[in-house]
Amino acid sequence: MKYAENILGTIGGTPLVKLNKLTADLPCLVLAKYETFNPGNSTKDRMAIQMVEDAVAAGKLKPGGTIIEGTSGNTGMGLALAAVVKGYKMICVISDKQSKEKIDILKAMGSEVHVCPTDVAPDDPRSYYSTAKRLSEEIPNSWYVNQYDNPSNTKAHFQTTGPEIWEQTNGKVTHFVVGVGTGGTISGVGGFLKSKNPNIKVWGVDTYGSVFKKYHETGIFDENEIYPYITEGIGEDILPKNVDFDIIDGFTKVTDKDAAVYTRRLAREEGMFLGNSAGAAIKGVMQLQEHFREGDVVVVLFHDHGSRYVAKIYNDEWMKKQGFLE
Ligand code: PMP
Repeated sequence: MKYAENILGTIGGTPLVKLNKLTADLPCLVLAKYETFNPGNSTKDRMAIQMVEDAVAAGKLKPGGTIIEGTSGNTGMGLALAAVVKGYKMICVISDKQSKEKIDILKAMGSEVHVCPTDVAPDDPRSYYSTAKRLSEEIPNSWYVNQYDNPSNTKAHFQTTGPEIWEQTNGKVTHFVVGVGTGGTISGVGGFLKSKNPNIKVWGVDTYGSVFKKYHETGIFDENEIYPYITEGIGEDILPKNVDFDIIDGFTKVTDKDAAVYTRRLAREEGMFLGNSAGAAIKGVMQLQEHFREGDVVVVLFHDHGSRYVAKIYNDEWMKKQGFLE
């Protein structure tokens, strides 16, 4: 018999899928690392279980403990899976920009959810960073995950996602393109691929309203770069420790409209029902096309599933209200 001991045993080993229509004019092969096949429907399952296992090993998370995290939803889902299977309580602190589905899904998985305002500074006591930190100080036997600075986040992708892409492409991958939030995915996968072949180029996809691109190009943390934006999952108003700027060759910024429109195009032209950052990532690939040559193998990672965006990206009224649909 062949079965997993529990649902956590199905994390990883996701397929690599060729894009056929959207990227037809590009000279290279474009392959999607299709992370929605993880049990929580996103790549974040990988780092969630790694962070929990490392916290247990380090004695930070003890039996009967409470896991607390500020999360846009996908990390919360991964942590909730781990909490259910391993017997911990779970509290997610989320910003009010996130889709209602993400909040309902976390509750369905047994998590307590606190919703905080988006448009306040990270050090404001109402921000989700501050709220998560405060709760972890108030609740006994709790552990604050902090995916932004937790090295197990990058480690999970260095040890699993990176090697999978290397093996699935027989070492032929030439470029890796991915949206950047905490930085765990780009730093872990990019770091692993460059350890195998330093010539592989690693590109981050950023949003307008986020600090990454300017910081990477100038070394300046420019507060003028920070303003509200709609794209979910990528871009930051802080510099997380998990973003390893040294292994990143460059960033490209994708507009909210393009990210939304390309998310819908992935569904209708490729049959890929994905989240908002997948649209940003594939538009990022299109924007970078002058860097790609015939014979190149470009891998783009798609983080999460479309089900979390049905009331937004996949809703015509919402799209019209944002000015994304004419
Ligand atoms: N896309 C989505 C949908 C996400 O939830 C995240 C995580 N914030 C990212 C992209 C960015 O991944 P990372 O945090 O590893 O940089």
